[in-house]
Amino acid sequence: MIGLISATAAGTVARDRLAAAWPGRTVVYEGPVREAVQRAFTECEQLVCFLATGAVVRLLAPLLSDKASDPGVVCVDEAGRHAVALLGGHGGGANALAGAVGEVLGAAPVVTTATDAAGVPGLDMLGLAVEGDVAGVSRAMLDGAGVELRADAVWPLPPLPPNVSPGAGGGAVLHVTDRIVELGARTAVLRPASLAVGVGASKNAPVEEVLGLIRDALCEAGLSPLSIAELVTVDAKADEPGIVAAASQLGVPLRTYAADELARIEVPNPSGAPLAAVGTPSVAEAAALAAGGELLVPKRKSSPVGRAAMATCAVVRRSPRGRLAVVGLGPGARDLLTPRAREELRRASVLVGLDQYVDQIRDLLRPGTTVLESGLGAEEARARTAVAEARKGHAVALIGSGDAGVYAMASPALAEAGADIDVVGVPGVTAALAAAAILGAPLGHDHVSISLSDLHTPWEVIERRVRAAAEADIIVTFYNPRSRGRDWQLPKALSILSEHREPATPVGVVRNASRPDESSRVTSLAGLDPATVDMMTVVTVGNTATREIAGRMVTPRGYRWQSATTAPAQEGAE
Ligand code: SAH
Repeated sequence: MIGLISATAAGTVARDRLAAAWPGRTVVYEGPVREAVQRAFTECEQLVCFLATGAVVRLLAPLLSDKASDPGVVCVDEAGRHAVALLGGHGGGANALAGAVGEVLGAAPVVTTATDAAGVPGLDMLGLAVEGDVAGVSRAMLDGAGVELRADAVWPLPPLPPNVSPGAGGGAVLHVTDRIVELGARTAVLRPASLAVGVGASKNAPVEEVLGLIRDALCEAGLSPLSIAELVTVDAKADEPGIVAAASQLGVPLRTYAADELARIEVPNPSGAPLAAVGTPSVAEAAALAAGGELLVPKRKSSPVGRAAMATCAVVRRSPRGRLAVVGLGPGARDLLTPRAREELRRASVLVGLDQYVDQIRDLLRPGTTVLESGLGAEEARARTAVAEARKGHAVALIGSGDAGVYAMASPALAEAGADIDVVGVPGVTAALAAAAILGAPLGHDHVSISLSDLHTPWEVIERRVRAAAEADIIVTFYNPRSRGRDWQLPKALSILSEHREPATPVGVVRNASRPDESSRVTSLAGLDPATVDMMTVVTVGNTATREIAGRMVTPRGYRWQSATTAPAQEGAE
């Protein structure tokens, strides 16, 4: 919950706007400000104070305990101009909160934590557990001093600045490992979630016994509990209190598998007891191995004093999974790039894309991002490169203009990709939508996109689709409409549409939508001069109901067709 505190009339207005924008996420604290801040501080994960920073500093001072547990605090000034991340910038999420508050109130976020200001990711923001001299190593990272990187494997991390590298001297060390290492001064460890811990337990095994067994097993194998990804067991033990409580105390999820699935997994130490009890000869080892990996700790039993063991465990190290984000950049304008796309660009350590698209977003990349750019025509190679980099374990962003899945890189990339990498897609505003918003409302009824490029598709196929759209009275947006070497396809497609639509049917032509040299016009099937169309353009042809109204192209939504020439495909649609 986010606690909201205000003192003045203007502050209260801003407070209420925030509360209205985030229903269910905020609590308003009324009454005297000192008590309000005190209560919110203990009850909420985050606070937004519509008060001067000085006042808030004085109120918070006696309440502070430590960075890990204190809430994130943002202050908004009386005029609503600034949202200041005052406390808990990273751990408390105040930096992100300042940005979010800024968006609602139109205030500029003010962030002063060093790592964010310099574009270097904070060590505690990488999504991994971290321990050791985090402040010391962060400072070295920021100062550009050498930080020796000792990573056991390639993990899909955001880019680290160039001064953080395997060969760097300088005294500071950053480990990325699940192994226990000595934590000297200026040494920090990032803990990848690499370990699966398989657990078996008899009915009512005490949580202390389960936890003690896991801790001993990891400790003797030289492994850190902070690298546990999840506890795993058999379905029948999904509600076993000792296992459930162990997972929650370790702060990791519990995943279960069906007994017959576990029974199929080959393990070094099968036994008769679990087979009789739950239907698989192995629980701990089989569950730990179910998602693949290397068995580091074979099955071992707990050793309580004076009675039989009630718990077993086994530990498996899973190999890192790379991450491929397929990111649509939108049609061109920076404010049509989604916040999610921006996040993914900053999360990637490797960026793959067409050189002209890379130029569009280069300023958003973190320092240290590896950029693999190539020219037009190298689509297949780009897709392969992106997948290969992800297979190595990297966090990769493959970018495309508009939506990366529309006549673009997503399909060749995913045709290459196997189940061994994670894939996320970030949708972008595709050219047809960017153009439609400029033209008016041409897509108010059923519409298709058709690419007129016959480089990858035989013309007969394209023509059959144009004809089908024409006969079904569907609005058509043509991508790749015309280039120097391909000049007859657009006139041919328009003539097919003209067999079913009046010469006066509105046609929208948009060139470079949302880019600095954007241009657009609404003309008609008879009036369009194809020579004015090029590869930076999309052409949208209305259906028989589309009208030009006040210079805008409008297709009525009506389910009943006003037009006399009711299209066959619409019969029965009422
Ligand atoms: N993935 C892109 C489309 C790639 S195909 C998207 O979703 O938009 C390339 C074609 O898209 C171009 O030939 C042109 O027809 C169209 N296009 C892309 N961006 C455009 C823009 N900003 N304005 C007009 N047309 C655009």
